[in-house]
Amino acid sequence: MKIGIAGAGVLGRLLAWQLGSAGHAVTVFDPALGPGWSADTTLARAAGFTAAGMLSPLAELECANVAVAGLGWRTLALWPARLAELAALGRRTGDTELSTIEAAFSQLGSLLVAHGGDRGSAQRLLALIAAKVPDRVPRALDAAALAQTEPALARSLLAWQLDGEGHIHTVAVLAALARGAAQLGVNFVWGRSVQDVQPGRIDAEAFDWVFDVRGTGARPDLPVRGVRGEVFWLHAPGVLLQRPLRLLHPRHRVYMVPRPGERIVIGASEIESEDRSVVSLRTTVELLAAAHSVIPELSEARVIWSEANLRPALPDNLPLRETRDGLVRINGLFRHGWLIGPALVEQALAALSL
Ligand SMILES: Cc1cc2nc3c(=O)[nH]c(=O)nc-3n(C[C@H](O)[C@H](O)[C@H](O)COP(=O)(O)OP(=O)(O)OC[C@H]3O[C@@H](n4cnc5c(N)ncnc54)[C@H](O)[C@@H]3O)c2cc1C
Repeated sequence: MKIGIAGAGVLGRLLAWQLGSAGHAVTVFDPALGPGWSADTTLARAAGFTAAGMLSPLAELECANVAVAGLGWRTLALWPARLAELAALGRRTGDTELSTIEAAFSQLGSLLVAHGGDRGSAQRLLALIAAKVPDRVPRALDAAALAQTEPALARSLLAWQLDGEGHIHTVAVLAALARGAAQLGVNFVWGRSVQDVQPGRIDAEAFDWVFDVRGTGARPDLPVRGVRGEVFWLHAPGVLLQRPLRLLHPRHRVYMVPRPGERIVIGASEIESEDRSVVSLRTTVELLAAAHSVIPELSEARVIWSEANLRPALPDNLPLRETRDGLVRINGLFRHGWLIGPALVEQALAALSL
């Protein structure tokens, strides 16, 4: 089959990798100038690069439904499979960037933590999780168990462990998916903003199947909007954090995700705005103060990067997957592209027997 993909974010690259692996002739169009992460924030940048990479079906029930959580559990099984395929290609071709990519995924569970004064926020979320998914109730950790699980965390915190959750190194995996797909012969057309997506056609070029995965770029075909999120990268030598954690905060959804190289990603604001300009003072003060209150040792960490990007969201904040003859649209992944992308792609390809 001749397949065209508009958009090379999380969805576009997953599709390219899987369709290329299945032997189809795949072309991907994206306005970005290349496959990699760039420090130039004025350039087109997939939201997937900015994402911290929490894979948190339970904790996200605060702002998602049980169907999204179900896609999340499925995805937690799919990421290791996708990364193992990429690693196998890397071993065949001697490409160490690919052959080591399985280390980009980790599934040690995640932690929910709260300060004593925010016990109310914590209990509200725990009750919500218990009501929506009674068979996966978070486990309370006492101070000794918390110290054993994540020694860097403040001893006074209330804490719960969410078994089975994980995290993924988003920047590394986006690069690996594009690199692997290109090695399979997928044609990436960078620097190309698609103007018109129709069944069987992207701009003037005909395809057997077309995938529209342009995120916020899919307007006006879909009523998608961007929801601003800001993140910080810290370099924190000597501060050990092994699993993602979320601070139950009365105003923010603050999370911290470990990255290789003694880095920690702190995120994220959620603001109804399409402003992609640099992070605000308010978000900086509030998120970083919250992070420091959880891990006091972060006081000497260095803020090495900060950026803002837009989560693609539909009016109901739920994902959309629709298929017409010759055209599949997937969009509205909102806060959950990494959490649910692979499961949605699996469903889309199974429905088309591709
Ligand atoms: C701050 C922040 C934190 C996040 N944290 C998490 C997290 O921890 N866990 C999680 O699961 N998700 C998280 N997300 C959400 C996740 O990043 C998104 O849901 C995901 O990136 C959506 O994937 P996508 O492929 O639909 O869109 P994108 O990743 O945005 O990709 C869309 C692509 O389409 C391209 N495009 C746009 N217009 C055109 C055009 N005209 N022609 C061709 N191509 C076009 C863009 O350049 C881009 O490459 C976060 C997002 C943000 C912003």
